[in-house]
Amino acid sequence: MVHQPLAIHGNGYSLTYDPSLRRKTPLALALVAEIARSGPIPVAEYMQRCLWDPSGGYYATRNPLGRSGDFITAPEISQVFGELIGLWSAVVWRDVMGAPGNVTLLELGPGRGTLMRDALRATKSLAGFRQALRCHLVEASQPLIDVQRATLTQSSERLSWSSGLARCSGPAIIVANEFFDALPIDQWTMTSEGWRARAVGLDETGTLSFTTLTGGESVTSTDEFPDAPAGAIVERSHTDELLENIATLATTGPVAAIIVDYGHTASGVGDTLQAVRAHAHEHPLSSPGEADLSAQVDFARLAATARQAGLEVDEPVSQGEFLGRLGIVERARTLMSANPAIAGEIEVAIARLISPEAMGSRFKVLGLRSAGLPALPGLS
Ligand code: SAH
Repeated sequence: MVHQPLAIHGNGYSLTYDPSLRRKTPLALALVAEIARSGPIPVAEYMQRCLWDPSGGYYATRNPLGRSGDFITAPEISQVFGELIGLWSAVVWRDVMGAPGNVTLLELGPGRGTLMRDALRATKSLAGFRQALRCHLVEASQPLIDVQRATLTQSSERLSWSSGLARCSGPAIIVANEFFDALPIDQWTMTSEGWRARAVGLDETGTLSFTTLTGGESVTSTDEFPDAPAGAIVERSHTDELLENIATLATTGPVAAIIVDYGHTASGVGDTLQAVRAHAHEHPLSSPGEADLSAQVDFARLAATARQAGLEVDEPVSQGEFLGRLGIVERARTLMSANPAIAGEIEVAIARLISPEAMGSRFKVLGLRSAGLPALPGLS
């Protein structure tokens, strides 16, 4: 039997899919009708609808995570991931922020709530930190909020939820694991007239297909990569508003953030939109609303946008390096000797998090902080 590894975003484990496959999901039928009526929709709108359409959107209607779901993430692979981030947060609170009397641990897109649960368990005995601590979860998916509440019942007295950052304030430690890859992206294709917006339209058989908009309004403002060859694709993620909200939050008290995701550290040309369903890659137009859609994070651009918003940046390091500096190997050893019966499993899980062939180098950790705070531990 061939062992099919669980899907980790960007790990390139299975790139074979049928590019012509288009399943007639309820959202696909709705989109085909809308596009037939009003014309092609930009890639960002397609992504937004696939993830968040109220009746057929992927995150809006389901819990996609875990072995029985579509993909698996670092906190679901090993409890050590959330534990180390919890301990890291306590160090940030004490050494970077100077132990303020209250602090919010704020997680963007907490999935099943596993990272937060493990972070809280690992810091249980740090009395000063726990006295100061409130937890806030930013989540837009009602099915996932329900799962998070169930995961975190033990600690519910200190938890709150919202769908955005609007009413949050500092001091705050923000954690975002595999959140930025889910933000919609615009794409442009290089044509003989320069960059033109990429969109989802219908081919001659009425099937969803990628197309290029030709009207003047589709011209991108980007003047980067003027020498890209015809057909090349460039992407921009919708991160501006979120980073501005983080910068606004930083005006109310010190803020430190880590953004963990798969992506690249130098901006470039390329199509990274990907769909994952049942732990296998699909064509992004195959199953609207029933596959996870995501795109690689452009860390260089993210850092530049954060700087523009007034935040300071700790340049990205690989996930393997970050977790190594936080002591993942030592923590794994302790866990293995306390649980000899599952020592092998623990070792495999840790290897997936840190080895360059798995998530160790494709995933990166970027730090953001309010002006005046020293560099964040594990990053500099
Ligand atoms: N951090 C979790 C889950 C990653 S999946 C983990 O590592 O396991 C992406 C998460 O972000 C989901 O919880 C999804 O519902 C949430 N999400 C994505 N885009 C969002 C948005 N614009 N606003 C709020 N939550 C969002």
